[in-house]
Amino acid sequence: MYNIVLFGPPGAGKGTQSEKLIEKYGLTHLSTGDLFRKHLGEGTELGVLAKKYMDEGRLVPDEVVIGMVDDKVNESKNSTQGYIFDGFPRTTAQAEALDKMLAIHGLSISGMIALEVPEDVLKARIIERGKTSNRVDDQDEQKINTRIKVYLDETLPVADFYSKQNKFSKINGVGEIDQIFASISSVIDSY
Ligand code: ADP
Repeated sequence: MYNIVLFGPPGAGKGTQSEKLIEKYGLTHLSTGDLFRKHLGEGTELGVLAKKYMDEGRLVPDEVVIGMVDDKVNESKNSTQGYIFDGFPRTTAQAEALDKMLAIHGLSISGMIALEVPEDVLKARIIERGKTSNRVDDQDEQKINTRIKVYLDETLPVADFYSKQNKFSKINGVGEIDQIFASISSVIDSY
């Protein structure tokens, strides 16, 4: 069973690569951004709470995110061959909570794979996606800048968390989608 954390800044290509990975390895895609957008669309209490953070490009509070992921793991753990965590953990507190949550089920993270993409490329990709995605956080340069800053300040330390456990690998996230996918696959195949 593979439990993979796909890591990288907004616009790094985590969603695109996750789709290919779930198909190849039969994994469950657990994207906290997608889950929040689903709640938002359904107008749940959680969605209403998350909206104000998401619209500003800030992080939703840890306890809210952790509770949502815990629910998802509990409901799917018996019917999956593993997980791709996408957009989670985004803080060290979330990473610690994830380790504990998996340990309860006798599971652990196989590794974190980080997609490296320079900031100018990220911004260009997000602005392009914003033309069709209906995501308000993709359509405003200020919000994009906030998200990148939040990533650098709060999320980057999560790489150290897995690095200390010898579970960190990085991949060049610029180039052909299939080439990047092949690089990620070779890391997974080495687990
Ligand atoms: P991107 O990686 O393109 O910024 P996501 O779809 O992963 O977008 O997330 C969109 C928004 O959802 C984030 O800006 C944040 O407000 C919220 N969010 C998603 N995942 C988390 C998380 N793990 N912790 C806190 N907030 C989160």
